[in-house]
Amino acid sequence: MKYISTRGDQAERSFCEILLEGLAPDGGLYLPAHYPTIDAATLARWRPLAYHELAFEVLSLYIDDIPHADLRALVVKTYTAATFGHPRIVPLRALEPGVYLEALSNGPTLAFKDMAMQLLGNLFEYELARRGQSLNILGATSGDTGSAAEYAMRGKAGVNVFMLSPKGRMSPFQQAQMFSLQDANIHNIAVDGVFDDCQDIVKAVSNDLEFKRRYRIGTVNSINWARLLAQVVYYFAGYFQATKVDTEVVSFAVPSGNFGNICAGHVARMMGLPIRQLVLATNENNVLDEFFRTGTYRVRASSETHETSSPSMDISKASNFERFVFDLLGRDAPRTRELFRGELDRHGAFTLTAAEFARIGGYGFVSGSSTHADRLATIRDTFQRFGTLIDTHTADGLKVAREHLAPGVPMIVLETALPAKFAQTIVEAIGREPDRPAAMRDIEQLPKRYTEMAADAQAVKAFIAANA
Ligand SMILES: *Cc1c(COP(=O)(O)O)cnc(C)c1O
Repeated sequence: MKYISTRGDQAERSFCEILLEGLAPDGGLYLPAHYPTIDAATLARWRPLAYHELAFEVLSLYIDDIPHADLRALVVKTYTAATFGHPRIVPLRALEPGVYLEALSNGPTLAFKDMAMQLLGNLFEYELARRGQSLNILGATSGDTGSAAEYAMRGKAGVNVFMLSPKGRMSPFQQAQMFSLQDANIHNIAVDGVFDDCQDIVKAVSNDLEFKRRYRIGTVNSINWARLLAQVVYYFAGYFQATKVDTEVVSFAVPSGNFGNICAGHVARMMGLPIRQLVLATNENNVLDEFFRTGTYRVRASSETHETSSPSMDISKASNFERFVFDLLGRDAPRTRELFRGELDRHGAFTLTAAEFARIGGYGFVSGSSTHADRLATIRDTFQRFGTLIDTHTADGLKVAREHLAPGVPMIVLETALPAKFAQTIVEAIGREPDRPAAMRDIEQLPKRYTEMAADAQAVKAFIAANA
């Protein structure tokens, strides 16, 4: 399998060439040159497989530059019941007739990002060892991504993590999750500023090409193709659990922010998984819902971006979205470049033509949005009627899923985090604290390892230089 850029760069690359990279050199995103399709016989053969076996089957269609035995060993090591808390890894549970929750959030940081990040950690370690190289991962986080990256990379040979977070602005639980890590290769930097300051520092450091090359600075953000690929697997796993035969169709509802999770669903559907609808749910930051309703994609300024009670979906632009638009436009790279580089850079928005917009139905996408009040009502209702406590992001997904139910089509809502991470809103909804997994009960009391720093790129560079 070769990989191409959504903006037309002619070079074709293999999986391991793009594994450690971010954007393609022309500013586009990488996608496979084509989607391998799955026939009925293959689907039947995959149905009984354990999660790690299924992961191997899916990944090996897209990765041909890691020997099969090695790839198999990497997925076996990644997807264990010990790491993901359940032998089925992504167990499905029924809520009401026809509506299911697929648990993607039983990994080490209690959010779905572990599903991909844990694999990425093992892939990075493997590939860096093979090349005899090392990598310094630099990132900014206000919550889920940073902790998922740190838990995936902790103790990995050849990898250091430098993670900036706004001092005092994460929840005590999220902060404790990150700062309690004692691994020598994990460096938490608490920046005196807000999240945007952290992100500006990452940009400033990455724009210093000399420094970037010298210290082998890399990232693990959600545009990484390997992360997206790892997520394709659980769409298959969810489908097999919700159906008995391979002629049945299902729909998925996906709490969305950067469009990474649902883009993996799009890939699964392109491969031939019988998905009727991909239901995209946003919170008050409804950039994507607006697009799917109107055909206009308008990125928001930070001042227009709301701080909500489903914070991992608080985005101003969706960094993976270009991948879907490229497919929607029939893989027309010049047109994709015109929209994302021309229109978006100049006007902060683009609008599809009527003919382009009309194609969306063929890709199964529908959408909706949810508010704080919806979230509280959905959490309360789900708890009262089914005795099931869901988190705020999953509540957004469930609320929008209910607007798109169809008789005879199972609706699988992806559970993207556990309620323990968002205790404050849970208390507001049901009047009591959510339970925590036993291992995390007293996490705030653990010793913390972090460095405080002014919002100053030079200081961060000096710290990296001293610790890389
Ligand atoms: C990251 C995240 C999302 C959004 O996923 P995208 O891939 O960015 O669309 C939703 N819920 C939770 C809990 C997350 O951490």
